[in-house]
Amino acid sequence: MDRHHCLVTGANRGLGLEFVRQLLARGDHVIAACRQPGKATTLNLLAGEHPGRLQVLPLDLADPRSHAALAAEVPLVTDEEPLDLLINNAGVLRGGERFGQVRPSDLDASFHTNAAGPFLLTQALAPQLAEGATVANISSEVGSIALRQEFRTPSYAMGKAAQNMATSLLAQALAPRGIKVVALHPGWVRTDMGGAQAALSAQESVAGLLRVLHPLTLDQSGEFFDWQGQPLPW
Ligand code: NAP
Repeated sequence: MDRHHCLVTGANRGLGLEFVRQLLARGDHVIAACRQPGKATTLNLLAGEHPGRLQVLPLDLADPRSHAALAAEVPLVTDEEPLDLLINNAGVLRGGERFGQVRPSDLDASFHTNAAGPFLLTQALAPQLAEGATVANISSEVGSIALRQEFRTPSYAMGKAAQNMATSLLAQALAPRGIKVVALHPGWVRTDMGGAQAALSAQESVAGLLRVLHPLTLDQSGEFFDWQGQPLPW
């Protein structure tokens, strides 16, 4: 059977939930990872509407034990078939930070969730990625050092810059198996994080991001693109 297996983190709301919806709509088998599956009402409804194609599993990205538990669970729900697409989507943004008052705990939380989390989860899941699979790290243009022109959201910016380095390193590590790893900026999107004034709907952003991922080639691995496929500087 030719099944396409995807795993999405932070899948209970925002862009993650929209990735799940669009992947299901195109016929994929999806593992939706989130902190509290029991409270993920929309995901559980979607699972009922797509029997056998959506599994909701627990994941706290900031806890490496949780990565190991998820990696152990994945082959059980895919019938040992490999993963074709891993979307490291979960992220945190602490708003309202001001220079002079940036808190160590916010820097730590951003590093663990935005950078170390996707790196360690990809490492834990690497044995289960198909040859030629794709890993998409949902980053932000805020993590681009080249584009920074103001002091804003430092914990988030540093966490995403570190995630960008993780993308580059993972691309190197996984290239021998033909696995592509890219950083993607979704645009400014109307979610809890992006706020109601944001320019894009989650539907538009995710549709664009999936178009960028579909024809991706190995020579594009280790690069940074926006939701329309435009290259971004590191
Ligand atoms: P969102 O609405 O705030 O959703 C964030 C998701 O991440 C939630 O599912 C949340 O789960 C999950 N999450 C946070 N910490 C986690 C942890 N430790 N373990 C597991 N899951 C965790 O954000 P969004 O707008 O959908 O953002 C998705 C991605 O796009 C993020 O990486 C973000 O940085 C990036 N991005 C967004 C925008 C934008 O304009 N929206 C722009 C640039 C980049 P809980 O429900 O359990 O908190």
